Amino acid sequence: MRGRIVTMDKDRTVIDDGMAVSRAGRILAVGPRAEIASRFRCDQVLGDAHSIIMPGFIDAHTHCTQCFVRSLTSGELPMIPRIYSPAQRSLNAEQAATTVRLIAAQLLRSGITTMCEGTLNPAHEPAIVEAIEETGIRCVMARGAADQDFHHAALYSQITDRSWYKAREGQAEKELLATEDFLKRHPARGEGLIRGAVNVSALMNFSEAYFKGGAELARRHDATIQVHIGRDREEVEFCLAAFGRRPIERLADLGVIDEHLVAVHAVLASEKEIELLARGGAGLAHSPVECVANLNAIPNLPRFRASGIRVALGCDNQANDIFVNMRAAWLIHGAKWGVSSYDAEFLSAGEIIDMATIEAASVLRCDDLVGSLEPGKAADMVVLDGSGPHMMSSQHLSSELLRYASRAEVKSTIVAGKVLYSDGEFPTIDIERLREEATAGARFVRDVVADRRYRPLPAW
Ligand SMILES: [Zn+2]
Repeated sequence: MRGRIVTMDKDRTVIDDGMAVSRAGRILAVGPRAEIASRFRCDQVLGDAHSIIMPGFIDAHTHCTQCFVRSLTSGELPMIPRIYSPAQRSLNAEQAATTVRLIAAQLLRSGITTMCEGTLNPAHEPAIVEAIEETGIRCVMARGAADQDFHHAALYSQITDRSWYKAREGQAEKELLATEDFLKRHPARGEGLIRGAVNVSALMNFSEAYFKGGAELARRHDATIQVHIGRDREEVEFCLAAFGRRPIERLADLGVIDEHLVAVHAVLASEKEIELLARGGAGLAHSPVECVANLNAIPNLPRFRASGIRVALGCDNQANDIFVNMRAAWLIHGAKWGVSSYDAEFLSAGEIIDMATIEAASVLRCDDLVGSLEPGKAADMVVLDGSGPHMMSSQHLSSELLRYASRAEVKSTIVAGKVLYSDGEFPTIDIERLREEATAGARFVRDVVADRRYRPLPAW
Protein backbone atom coordinates (compact mmCIF):
# COMPACT_ATOMS: atom_id res chain seq x y z
CA MET A 1 0.00 0.00 0.00
CA ARG A 2 1.42 3.33 -1.00
CA GLY A 3 0.42 6.86 -0.01
CA ARG A 4 0.16 9.13 2.98
CA ILE A 5 -0.02 6.66 5.85
CA VAL A 6 -2.20 7.46 8.84
CA THR A 7 -0.91 4.85 11.28
CA MET A 8 -3.12 5.64 14.32
CA ASP A 9 -0.24 4.31 16.44
CA LYS A 10 0.39 5.60 19.96
CA ASP A 11 1.94 8.85 18.64
CA ARG A 12 -0.63 9.14 15.81
CA THR A 13 2.26 9.13 13.34
CA VAL A 14 1.47 10.20 9.77
CA ILE A 15 4.05 9.24 7.11
CA ASP A 16 3.73 11.56 4.12
CA ASP A 17 5.30 9.38 1.42
CA GLY A 18 4.93 5.98 3.00
CA MET A 19 4.34 2.30 2.40
CA ALA A 20 2.64 -0.43 4.36
CA VAL A 21 3.54 -4.03 3.48
CA SER A 22 1.46 -7.08 4.31
CA ARG A 23 1.90 -10.81 3.93
CA ALA A 24 -0.43 -13.68 4.84
CA GLY A 25 -3.01 -11.32 6.31
CA ARG A 26 -0.64 -9.48 8.65
CA ILE A 27 1.20 -6.17 8.43
CA LEU A 28 4.93 -6.76 7.96
CA ALA A 29 6.23 -3.21 7.94
CA VAL A 30 5.14 0.42 7.81
CA GLY A 31 7.51 3.29 7.03
CA PRO A 32 8.88 5.84 4.54
CA ARG A 33 8.52 4.55 0.97
CA ALA A 34 12.22 4.80 0.12
CA GLU A 35 13.16 2.66 3.10
CA ILE A 36 10.38 0.06 2.66
CA ALA A 37 10.95 -0.23 -1.11
CA SER A 38 14.61 -1.06 -0.51
CA ARG A 39 13.70 -3.84 1.97
CA PHE A 40 10.72 -5.55 0.25
CA ARG A 41 9.77 -6.64 -3.24
CA CYS A 42 6.01 -6.35 -3.60
CA ASP A 43 3.82 -8.39 -5.98
CA GLN A 44 1.02 -5.84 -5.89
CA VAL A 45 0.98 -2.19 -4.87
CA LEU A 46 -2.32 -0.46 -4.11
CA GLY A 47 -2.51 3.33 -3.90
CA ASP A 48 -0.41 6.09 -5.39
CA ALA A 49 1.20 9.41 -4.47
CA HIS A 50 -2.24 10.96 -3.74
CA SER A 51 -3.64 8.10 -1.68
CA ILE A 52 -4.33 8.20 2.03
CA ILE A 53 -3.89 4.81 3.72
CA MET A 54 -5.72 4.27 6.99
CA PRO A 55 -6.46 1.37 9.28
CA GLY A 56 -9.86 -0.09 8.38
CA PHE A 57 -12.66 1.70 10.24
CA ILE A 58 -14.74 0.02 12.92
CA ASP A 59 -18.53 0.03 13.27
CA ALA A 60 -18.94 -0.67 16.97
CA HIS A 61 -22.67 -1.38 17.00
CA THR A 62 -25.16 -2.91 14.59
CA HIS A 63 -27.93 -5.47 14.21
CA CYS A 64 -27.89 -6.70 10.63
CA THR A 65 -31.42 -8.09 10.73
CA GLN A 66 -32.82 -4.57 11.13
CA CYS A 67 -31.68 -3.41 7.73
CA PHE A 68 -34.66 -4.36 5.53
CA VAL A 69 -37.02 -2.21 7.58
CA ARG A 70 -34.92 0.90 8.04
CA SER A 71 -36.93 3.58 6.21
CA LEU A 72 -40.21 2.33 7.71
CA THR A 73 -38.96 3.47 11.12
CA SER A 74 -38.31 7.05 10.06
CA GLY A 75 -40.61 9.36 11.97
CA GLU A 76 -42.49 6.46 13.64
CA LEU A 77 -41.79 7.13 17.31
CA PRO A 78 -41.04 5.08 19.31
CA MET A 79 -40.03 2.38 16.87
CA ILE A 80 -37.84 -0.24 18.48
CA PRO A 81 -40.24 -2.78 20.07
CA ARG A 82 -43.07 -1.88 17.70
CA ILE A 83 -41.35 -2.03 14.30
CA TYR A 84 -37.72 -3.16 14.49
CA SER A 85 -38.26 -6.20 16.73
CA PRO A 86 -41.23 -7.76 14.86
CA ALA A 87 -39.46 -7.18 11.54
CA GLN A 88 -36.34 -8.94 12.82
CA ARG A 89 -38.32 -11.82 14.32
CA SER A 90 -40.17 -12.43 11.06
CA LEU A 91 -37.06 -13.25 9.02
CA ASN A 92 -36.02 -16.80 8.16
CA ALA A 93 -32.37 -17.85 8.26
CA GLU A 94 -31.85 -17.24 4.57
CA GLN A 95 -33.21 -13.69 4.85
CA ALA A 96 -30.99 -13.10 7.89
CA ALA A 97 -27.96 -14.12 5.79
CA THR A 98 -29.03 -11.61 3.12
CA THR A 99 -29.13 -8.84 5.74
CA VAL A 100 -25.51 -9.64 6.65
CA ARG A 101 -24.41 -9.42 3.01
CA LEU A 102 -26.34 -6.18 2.62
CA ILE A 103 -24.80 -4.56 5.70
CA ALA A 104 -21.32 -5.91 4.89
CA ALA A 105 -21.46 -4.43 1.38
CA GLN A 106 -22.50 -1.03 2.74
CA LEU A 107 -19.83 -1.05 5.45
CA LEU A 108 -17.02 -2.22 3.17
CA ARG A 109 -18.04 0.48 0.68
CA SER A 110 -17.40 3.07 3.39
CA GLY A 111 -14.04 1.65 4.47
CA ILE A 112 -15.25 -0.32 7.50
CA THR A 113 -13.37 -3.56 8.04
CA THR A 114 -14.69 -4.60 11.47
CA MET A 115 -18.29 -4.59 12.56
CA CYS A 116 -19.83 -5.46 15.89
CA GLU A 117 -23.01 -7.47 15.50
CA GLY A 118 -25.46 -8.16 18.33
CA THR A 119 -27.76 -11.16 17.88
CA LEU A 120 -30.73 -12.25 20.01
CA ASN A 121 -32.20 -14.98 17.84
CA PRO A 122 -30.43 -18.37 18.03
CA ALA A 123 -32.31 -19.50 14.91
CA HIS A 124 -30.45 -16.88 12.85
CA GLU A 125 -27.00 -17.47 14.31
CA PRO A 126 -25.55 -20.15 12.01
CA ALA A 127 -26.68 -18.28 8.90
CA ILE A 128 -25.23 -15.01 10.21
CA VAL A 129 -21.88 -16.64 11.00
CA GLU A 130 -21.75 -18.30 7.60
CA ALA A 131 -22.59 -15.05 5.78
CA ILE A 132 -19.96 -13.08 7.72
CA GLU A 133 -17.30 -15.65 6.84
CA GLU A 134 -18.40 -15.70 3.21
CA THR A 135 -18.16 -11.90 2.85
CA GLY A 136 -14.82 -11.80 4.69
CA ILE A 137 -15.63 -8.79 6.88
CA ARG A 138 -14.21 -8.97 10.41
CA CYS A 139 -16.77 -9.14 13.18
CA VAL A 140 -17.07 -9.00 16.93
CA MET A 141 -20.26 -11.01 17.36
CA ALA A 142 -22.14 -10.73 20.63
CA ARG A 143 -24.70 -13.52 20.93
CA GLY A 144 -27.43 -14.01 23.48
CA ALA A 145 -31.14 -14.68 23.92
CA ALA A 146 -33.56 -13.01 26.31
CA ASP A 147 -34.71 -15.03 29.35
CA GLN A 148 -37.12 -12.70 31.13
CA ASP A 149 -40.74 -11.60 30.66
CA PHE A 150 -41.55 -8.04 31.67
CA HIS A 151 -44.24 -5.41 31.61
CA HIS A 152 -43.66 -1.69 31.52
CA ALA A 153 -46.42 0.39 33.04
CA ALA A 154 -46.42 3.55 30.95
CA LEU A 155 -46.99 7.05 32.28
CA TYR A 156 -50.80 7.22 32.47
CA SER A 157 -51.37 3.54 33.30
CA GLN A 158 -49.17 3.87 36.40
CA ILE A 159 -52.17 5.11 38.42
CA THR A 160 -53.50 1.56 38.58
CA ASP A 161 -50.66 -0.50 37.14
CA ARG A 162 -47.06 -1.29 38.03
CA SER A 163 -44.10 -2.56 35.99
CA TRP A 164 -42.99 -6.13 36.69
CA TYR A 165 -40.48 -8.75 35.52
CA LYS A 166 -40.21 -12.51 35.82
CA ALA A 167 -37.25 -14.62 34.75
CA ARG A 168 -38.01 -17.78 32.79
CA GLU A 169 -36.64 -20.56 34.97
CA GLY A 170 -33.45 -22.28 33.76
CA GLN A 171 -33.14 -20.28 30.54
CA ALA A 172 -30.18 -18.13 31.62
CA GLU A 173 -28.09 -21.22 32.35
CA LYS A 174 -29.02 -22.79 29.00
CA GLU A 175 -28.26 -19.67 26.96
CA LEU A 176 -25.01 -18.91 28.79
CA LEU A 177 -23.84 -22.44 28.00
CA ALA A 178 -24.64 -21.75 24.32
CA THR A 179 -22.66 -18.48 24.54
CA GLU A 180 -19.72 -20.29 26.12
CA ASP A 181 -19.84 -22.83 23.32
CA PHE A 182 -19.87 -19.92 20.83
CA LEU A 183 -16.85 -18.36 22.57
CA LYS A 184 -14.99 -21.66 22.30
CA ARG A 185 -15.65 -21.77 18.56
CA HIS A 186 -14.91 -18.04 18.11
CA PRO A 187 -12.46 -17.06 20.87
CA ALA A 188 -12.69 -13.44 21.99
CA ARG A 189 -8.93 -13.05 21.71
CA GLY A 190 -8.47 -15.48 18.83
CA GLU A 191 -7.08 -15.17 15.32
CA GLY A 192 -10.34 -15.88 13.50
CA LEU A 193 -12.44 -13.46 11.49
CA ILE A 194 -15.16 -13.63 14.14
CA ARG A 195 -14.44 -12.86 17.78
CA GLY A 196 -17.20 -13.91 20.13
CA ALA A 197 -18.78 -11.70 22.79
CA VAL A 198 -21.59 -11.85 25.33
CA ASN A 199 -24.83 -10.09 24.48
CA VAL A 200 -26.96 -9.26 27.51
CA SER A 201 -29.04 -6.85 25.58
CA ALA A 202 -31.12 -5.00 28.20
CA LEU A 203 -32.22 -4.92 31.83
CA MET A 204 -35.89 -5.48 31.02
CA ASN A 205 -35.62 -8.78 29.20
CA PHE A 206 -32.49 -10.37 30.70
CA SER A 207 -32.55 -11.72 34.25
CA GLU A 208 -30.26 -11.03 37.18
CA ALA A 209 -28.80 -14.55 36.79
CA TYR A 210 -28.08 -13.87 33.11
CA PHE A 211 -26.29 -10.58 33.89
CA LYS A 212 -24.17 -12.10 36.65
CA GLY A 213 -23.36 -15.25 34.66
CA GLY A 214 -22.71 -13.20 31.50
CA ALA A 215 -20.26 -10.90 33.29
CA GLU A 216 -18.42 -13.90 34.72
CA LEU A 217 -18.28 -15.51 31.27
CA ALA A 218 -16.92 -12.31 29.73
CA ARG A 219 -14.19 -12.08 32.36
CA ARG A 220 -13.23 -15.73 31.98
CA HIS A 221 -12.94 -15.47 28.19
CA ASP A 222 -11.63 -11.89 28.16
CA ALA A 223 -14.60 -11.03 25.95
CA THR A 224 -16.80 -7.97 25.92
CA ILE A 225 -20.24 -8.01 27.50
CA GLN A 226 -22.55 -5.74 25.55
CA VAL A 227 -25.55 -4.08 27.16
CA HIS A 228 -27.99 -1.48 25.80
CA ILE A 229 -28.25 0.82 28.78
CA GLY A 230 -29.80 4.22 29.47
CA ARG A 231 -31.29 4.08 25.98
CA ASP A 232 -34.75 5.54 26.54
CA ARG A 233 -37.01 7.04 29.20
CA GLU A 234 -39.11 3.87 29.37
CA GLU A 235 -36.04 1.90 30.47
CA VAL A 236 -35.19 4.44 33.18
CA GLU A 237 -38.80 4.35 34.40
CA PHE A 238 -38.83 0.55 34.36
CA CYS A 239 -35.58 0.34 36.36
CA LEU A 240 -36.82 2.83 38.95
CA ALA A 241 -40.11 0.91 39.31
CA ALA A 242 -38.65 -2.60 39.28
CA PHE A 243 -35.29 -2.13 41.02
CA GLY A 244 -35.50 1.26 42.70
CA ARG A 245 -32.34 2.17 40.77
CA ARG A 246 -31.38 3.96 37.58
CA PRO A 247 -30.15 1.61 34.81
CA ILE A 248 -26.39 2.02 35.27
CA GLU A 249 -26.76 1.93 39.06
CA ARG A 250 -28.51 -1.43 38.59
CA LEU A 251 -25.57 -2.62 36.43
CA ALA A 252 -23.20 -1.62 39.23
CA ASP A 253 -25.33 -3.58 41.75
CA LEU A 254 -25.10 -6.63 39.48
CA GLY A 255 -21.29 -6.33 39.34
CA VAL A 256 -21.00 -6.05 35.57
CA ILE A 257 -19.18 -2.72 35.27
CA ASP A 258 -15.57 -3.40 34.40
CA GLU A 259 -13.30 -3.06 31.36
CA HIS A 260 -15.22 -5.85 29.57
CA LEU A 261 -18.47 -3.90 29.55
CA VAL A 262 -19.52 -2.12 26.38
CA ALA A 263 -22.27 0.26 27.45
CA VAL A 264 -24.36 0.71 24.33
CA HIS A 265 -25.92 4.17 23.87
CA ALA A 266 -26.08 5.33 27.53
CA VAL A 267 -27.68 8.51 26.20
CA LEU A 268 -29.56 9.05 29.46
CA ALA A 269 -26.63 8.41 31.78
CA SER A 270 -26.67 10.81 34.73
CA GLU A 271 -23.48 12.44 36.06
CA LYS A 272 -23.36 9.79 38.77
CA GLU A 273 -23.85 6.99 36.27
CA ILE A 274 -21.09 8.32 33.99
CA GLU A 275 -18.86 8.24 37.06
CA LEU A 276 -19.83 4.59 37.74
CA LEU A 277 -18.88 3.61 34.18
CA ALA A 278 -15.60 5.56 34.44
CA ARG A 279 -14.63 4.05 37.78
CA GLY A 280 -15.22 0.53 36.43
CA GLY A 281 -13.24 1.15 33.22
CA ALA A 282 -16.18 0.41 30.89
CA GLY A 283 -16.30 1.54 27.27
CA LEU A 284 -19.13 3.27 25.41
CA ALA A 285 -20.59 2.41 22.00
CA HIS A 286 -22.07 5.65 20.69
CA SER A 287 -24.17 5.84 17.52
CA PRO A 288 -24.57 9.53 16.68
CA VAL A 289 -27.03 9.27 13.78
CA GLU A 290 -29.20 6.86 15.77
CA CYS A 291 -29.45 9.53 18.49
CA VAL A 292 -31.32 11.74 16.06
CA ALA A 293 -33.22 8.87 14.39
CA ASN A 294 -34.93 7.78 17.61
CA LEU A 295 -34.76 11.17 19.37
CA ASN A 296 -34.25 9.65 22.82
CA ALA A 297 -31.33 11.87 23.86
CA ILE A 298 -27.82 13.03 22.96
CA PRO A 299 -25.25 11.76 25.47
CA ASN A 300 -22.85 14.16 27.15
CA LEU A 301 -19.90 12.86 25.15
CA PRO A 302 -17.39 15.51 26.28
CA ARG A 303 -18.22 14.53 29.87
CA PHE A 304 -17.78 10.81 29.12
CA ARG A 305 -14.36 11.52 27.62
CA ALA A 306 -13.30 13.88 30.39
CA SER A 307 -14.02 10.99 32.79
CA GLY A 308 -11.61 8.81 30.81
CA ILE A 309 -14.27 6.56 29.28
CA ARG A 310 -13.21 5.00 25.99
CA VAL A 311 -15.69 5.65 23.18
CA ALA A 312 -16.39 3.69 19.99
CA LEU A 313 -18.60 5.01 17.19
CA GLY A 314 -21.32 2.80 15.78
CA CYS A 315 -23.52 3.15 12.72
CA ASP A 316 -26.33 1.11 14.30
CA ASN A 317 -27.76 0.59 10.85
CA GLN A 318 -28.09 4.34 10.30
CA ALA A 319 -26.44 5.29 6.99
CA ASN A 320 -23.97 2.43 7.45
CA ASP A 321 -21.28 4.91 6.52
CA ILE A 322 -18.53 5.78 8.99
CA PHE A 323 -17.86 9.18 7.42
CA VAL A 324 -21.50 10.16 7.92
CA ASN A 325 -21.39 8.98 11.52
CA MET A 326 -18.09 10.74 12.28
CA ARG A 327 -19.44 13.96 10.82
CA ALA A 328 -22.71 13.52 12.70
CA ALA A 329 -20.71 13.19 15.95
CA TRP A 330 -18.93 16.44 15.14
CA LEU A 331 -22.15 18.27 14.29
CA ILE A 332 -24.52 17.05 17.01
CA HIS A 333 -21.97 17.46 19.78
CA GLY A 334 -20.78 20.72 18.25
CA ALA A 335 -24.36 22.04 18.22
CA LYS A 336 -25.05 20.85 21.75
CA TRP A 337 -21.80 21.37 23.63
CA GLY A 338 -19.56 23.49 21.39
CA VAL A 339 -22.04 26.17 20.37
CA SER A 340 -23.58 26.48 23.83
CA SER A 341 -20.21 27.28 25.42
CA TYR A 342 -18.50 28.90 22.40
CA ASP A 343 -15.80 26.26 22.80
CA ALA A 344 -14.15 24.86 19.68
CA GLU A 345 -12.42 22.18 21.74
CA PHE A 346 -15.58 20.29 22.73
CA LEU A 347 -14.26 17.32 20.70
CA SER A 348 -11.31 17.39 18.29
CA ALA A 349 -11.31 15.87 14.81
CA GLY A 350 -8.47 13.56 15.90
CA GLU A 351 -10.53 12.27 18.82
CA ILE A 352 -13.50 11.51 16.56
CA ILE A 353 -11.27 9.53 14.18
CA ASP A 354 -9.79 7.72 17.22
CA MET A 355 -13.35 6.67 18.10
CA ALA A 356 -13.76 5.09 14.65
CA THR A 357 -10.39 3.28 14.71
CA ILE A 358 -8.00 2.54 17.57
CA GLU A 359 -10.24 3.62 20.44
CA ALA A 360 -13.13 1.58 19.03
CA ALA A 361 -10.75 -1.39 18.83
CA SER A 362 -9.91 -0.91 22.51
CA VAL A 363 -13.60 -0.76 23.50
CA LEU A 364 -14.23 -4.00 21.57
CA ARG A 365 -11.09 -5.63 23.07
CA CYS A 366 -9.49 -6.20 19.69
CA ASP A 367 -6.82 -3.48 19.70
CA ASP A 368 -4.23 -6.26 19.74
CA LEU A 369 -5.36 -7.05 16.19
CA VAL A 370 -6.93 -4.01 14.52
CA GLY A 371 -7.38 -0.24 14.82
CA SER A 372 -3.89 0.90 13.76
CA LEU A 373 -1.31 0.18 11.09
CA GLU A 374 1.56 -1.42 12.97
CA PRO A 375 3.72 -4.48 12.23
CA GLY A 376 2.13 -7.68 13.52
CA LYS A 377 -1.44 -6.42 13.36
CA ALA A 378 -4.00 -7.69 10.87
CA ALA A 379 -3.71 -6.22 7.38
CA ASP A 380 -7.09 -4.44 7.66
CA MET A 381 -6.74 -1.22 5.70
CA VAL A 382 -8.52 1.29 3.58
CA VAL A 383 -7.12 3.17 0.60
CA LEU A 384 -8.63 6.63 0.22
CA ASP A 385 -8.32 8.79 -2.85
CA GLY A 386 -6.81 12.05 -1.67
CA SER A 387 -6.56 13.62 -5.13
CA GLY A 388 -9.88 15.54 -5.24
CA PRO A 389 -10.00 19.32 -5.04
CA HIS A 390 -11.72 19.14 -1.63
CA MET A 391 -8.67 17.31 -0.27
CA MET A 392 -6.06 19.70 -1.78
CA SER A 393 -4.20 22.43 0.11
CA SER A 394 -3.90 20.04 3.04
CA GLN A 395 -2.93 21.61 6.35
CA HIS A 396 -4.26 19.37 9.08
CA LEU A 397 -5.25 15.89 7.92
CA SER A 398 -7.58 14.84 10.74
CA SER A 399 -9.69 18.00 10.33
CA GLU A 400 -9.84 17.50 6.57
CA LEU A 401 -10.80 13.83 6.83
CA LEU A 402 -13.60 14.68 9.27
CA ARG A 403 -14.97 17.66 7.38
CA TYR A 404 -14.40 16.86 3.71
CA ALA A 405 -13.78 13.16 3.12
CA SER A 406 -16.65 10.83 2.28
CA ARG A 407 -17.42 7.29 1.21
CA ALA A 408 -16.66 8.47 -2.34
CA GLU A 409 -12.97 8.64 -1.38
CA VAL A 410 -12.84 4.93 -0.52
CA LYS A 411 -10.95 3.19 -3.33
CA SER A 412 -10.21 -0.16 -1.69
CA THR A 413 -11.12 -1.91 1.55
CA ILE A 414 -8.89 -4.75 2.67
CA VAL A 415 -9.46 -7.28 5.47
CA ALA A 416 -6.71 -9.70 6.50
CA GLY A 417 -4.83 -8.78 3.33
CA LYS A 418 -7.79 -9.61 1.05
CA VAL A 419 -9.34 -6.91 -1.10
CA LEU A 420 -13.09 -7.02 -0.32
CA TYR A 421 -14.01 -3.80 -2.10
CA SER A 422 -12.22 -1.99 -4.89
CA ASP A 423 -13.45 0.61 -7.38
CA GLY A 424 -17.09 -0.48 -7.29
CA GLU A 425 -16.38 -4.23 -7.19
CA PHE A 426 -17.12 -6.60 -4.31
CA PRO A 427 -15.16 -9.82 -4.98
CA THR A 428 -16.94 -11.80 -2.23
CA ILE A 429 -20.50 -10.51 -2.74
CA ASP A 430 -22.76 -11.19 -5.73
CA ILE A 431 -24.25 -7.70 -5.94
CA GLU A 432 -26.96 -8.51 -8.53
CA ARG A 433 -28.22 -11.42 -6.42
CA LEU A 434 -28.02 -9.20 -3.35
CA ARG A 435 -30.15 -6.56 -5.08
CA GLU A 436 -32.89 -9.11 -5.82
CA GLU A 437 -32.86 -10.61 -2.33
CA ALA A 438 -32.73 -7.23 -0.59
CA THR A 439 -35.68 -5.97 -2.68
CA ALA A 440 -37.68 -9.09 -1.81
CA GLY A 441 -36.69 -8.74 1.87
CA ALA A 442 -37.82 -5.11 1.98
CA ARG A 443 -41.18 -6.08 0.45
CA PHE A 444 -41.59 -8.92 2.94
CA VAL A 445 -41.00 -6.81 6.08
CA ARG A 446 -43.15 -4.00 4.74
CA ASP A 447 -46.12 -6.37 4.87
CA VAL A 448 -45.08 -7.68 8.30
CA VAL A 449 -45.08 -4.24 9.92
CA ALA A 450 -47.82 -2.56 7.83
CA ASP A 451 -50.43 -2.72 10.61
CA ARG A 452 -47.94 -1.78 13.29
CA ARG A 453 -47.25 1.66 11.91
CA TYR A 454 -49.25 4.51 13.41
CA ARG A 455 -49.40 6.46 10.20
CA PRO A 456 -49.17 5.69 6.49
CA LEU A 457 -45.87 6.51 4.84
CA PRO A 458 -46.02 10.12 3.66
CA ALA A 459 -46.31 10.55 -0.11
CA TRP A 460 -42.90 12.20 -0.07
ZN1 LIG B 1 -28.47 -2.06 19.47
